[in-house]
Amino acid sequence: MGQQIYFDNYTPVGDLIVIATCFVMIILVTTSYVSKTKNFRLFLNMIGYLILASFCDIIHHQLYLGVTDGSYTGVYVVRILYHAFLFSILLLYVVYIVEIQRLEIRKRIPIMTIASLIYLTVLITDIVTAVRKTGFRLDRTGKAVSGFNIFLVGYLAFIVVIVYLMIAYRDRIYKRAMIGFYGTMVVSFMVLLIQGRHGQSSFTAASFLFPVIAMMYLIHSTPYDVELGAVSIAALKDLVKYDYDKKINFVFMSLYMPDLDVEGRNIPKELQTTIRHFSSEYFKNAVLFQVSNGHVILIAPKKNNPDYENRLNRILNSFQLEYERYQFDYKVVIGESIDEISRKNEYVSFIQNIYRNMDIDTIHLLEPDDVESFNQYEYILEELNDICKKHDLHDERVLAYCQPVFNIKTGKYDTAEALMRLKLPDLGMVFPDQFIPIAEEQGYIHVLTEIILQKTCDEIRHLIEEGYEVNRISVNVSVLELRDDGFTGDIDQIIDDSGIPNEKVAIEITESRSDSDFLMMKGKIEELKERGIKFYLDDFGTGYSNMERIMELPFDIIKFDRSLVLASDTDRKSEMMVGSLANMFSELNYSVLYEGVENDGDEKRCINMSASYLQGYKYSRPIPITDLDRFFSKIDA
Ligand code: C2E
Ligand code: CA
Ligand code: CA
Repeated sequence: MGQQIYFDNYTPVGDLIVIATCFVMIILVTTSYVSKTKNFRLFLNMIGYLILASFCDIIHHQLYLGVTDGSYTGVYVVRILYHAFLFSILLLYVVYIVEIQRLEIRKRIPIMTIASLIYLTVLITDIVTAVRKTGFRLDRTGKAVSGFNIFLVGYLAFIVVIVYLMIAYRDRIYKRAMIGFYGTMVVSFMVLLIQGRHGQSSFTAASFLFPVIAMMYLIHSTPYDVELGAVSIAALKDLVKYDYDKKINFVFMSLYMPDLDVEGRNIPKELQTTIRHFSSEYFKNAVLFQVSNGHVILIAPKKNNPDYENRLNRILNSFQLEYERYQFDYKVVIGESIDEISRKNEYVSFIQNIYRNMDIDTIHLLEPDDVESFNQYEYILEELNDICKKHDLHDERVLAYCQPVFNIKTGKYDTAEALMRLKLPDLGMVFPDQFIPIAEEQGYIHVLTEIILQKTCDEIRHLIEEGYEVNRISVNVSVLELRDDGFTGDIDQIIDDSGIPNEKVAIEITESRSDSDFLMMKGKIEELKERGIKFYLDDFGTGYSNMERIMELPFDIIKFDRSLVLASDTDRKSEMMVGSLANMFSELNYSVLYEGVENDGDEKRCINMSASYLQGYKYSRPIPITDLDRFFSKIDA
């Protein structure tokens, strides 16, 4: 079985390409942002072994050519090393797959035992057959005899293990990624087959390259946005986990620009350049992450940037210059890594919670309170989630408070506004500013409204049954809720089921800027109005007011915000302005309600400014809705 061919046919081309490709991969993983999961080290080791294997392959052929005295020991040794490195790659490949499949220890042990046994068997057989000259060997004249080919047996055994893993636990890997792995394995196998048919061996190492390339592409690569220099948010979690495990402290800077945080909007070119410089010029080893269109987070290791406060100041200065140019609103949060947040790996929601509580166009330096407020946020979120899941309209965690409203015409309290509070086991009473924004953002607001409406209807029914004069009680509704198709149906049903007349209920809504909201709102309001429900325009005078649109909506009552009550107190001119606005509304048959009437002075001015209703601390702070009978009067009295 002469195999002179074995050495004659060899060319180092295959091995050289493998070595070159491996170096290319090393360059890529050091210049790109790669997710440094535990598997990343396995991946790097595989690249290392590939380089070593290819080297050994080249050398053992070179050694052979250099032998003149018929002693081939060196050739044997290097050849065995070559096999050892190749099989190390296969062994690591099994570990790698077991890792990404997150196999339980119980399932891991037999697989790893089998793989290790194959590995050892191949190596020992290789050594033994070389020593006893029963396997691959070279005779005195240098002729190669293949003998018993343990390599092929071992290789096939590994393929069996790998294919078994891929089939038995296929559900644990994202299907497309699995197809990627499979595909590259098939290609590798084809290369081996083809070279075998041609009595070649130059491309054996090359056939190990493809699955490694697949790993890099499918699992470890996190492409940059080349213009911005940011990587996607998914990679942030990897980095935080890595740093936390390795106890690496980092500093971060988070920039949020609400104007740009819209689908389809892009950061302008020059601003992109500035932001790109944030990560590459000002910091060492910084990575920029893009959370959404208008939100980026820069993270840099603290030890590489000991003077990070200076660097941050330089960034802020250059950002300020940019700001003067573009005038985009912004919020900036700056701080150092915090163990508790790193452990939970929740920087994005942590930072978003800070944004929720900070003013626009400001810079916030992290403080200990931020963590507490975040924990509170998470707790409230959990409770809200539970309230929604249970969907119990009598849920005791949602409290209906109310504020009686003074009716000037009748000189009595016969209307009121329902106001929500939460009473949570760990926090006690929670006020609207702490949970309404969260509930709106997370889509929980409608269930809360339903509960308040239910409790309000219960109280209305109770008051009517007790003989009280109830004109109506208003409930606050968020514009977001109106977007839902089921809105009118839900409201209808609750009022119907409690058996009170529709006219006893009113809904307060604030204006919305968006055109599509406007038409939708109009439709829903008209639908509910037909059934007798009254509508209040809430918070008139805060910021945006489009008269034309207000007139187009069939409101019954316009609620003048406390800011207008305050403004009317500053000078005569302001009082005239507020007064004539109110006058215009009442001439157009709207009733005007002043909110935030705190003292006699406020009351007097409001009465002079066409008030129909007055509400505020002067009359009552918010009280539990069941105490409303203290303010309302009986019909016969
Ligand atoms: P809003 O609808 O403008 O409610 C009036 C707020 O002004 C209430 O605060 C009330 O306690 C407060 N207030 C009443 N009189 C005075 C006064 O004389 N002086 C001052 N400075 N303030 C006064 P509250 O209860 O904390 O509610 C805050 C906001 O939370 C409400 O503003 C409303 O937008 C929202 N909210 C409350 N309950 C609900 C609800 O059931 N659903 C929804 N969607 N939002 C609610
Ligand atoms: Ca209101
Ligand atoms: Ca209001």
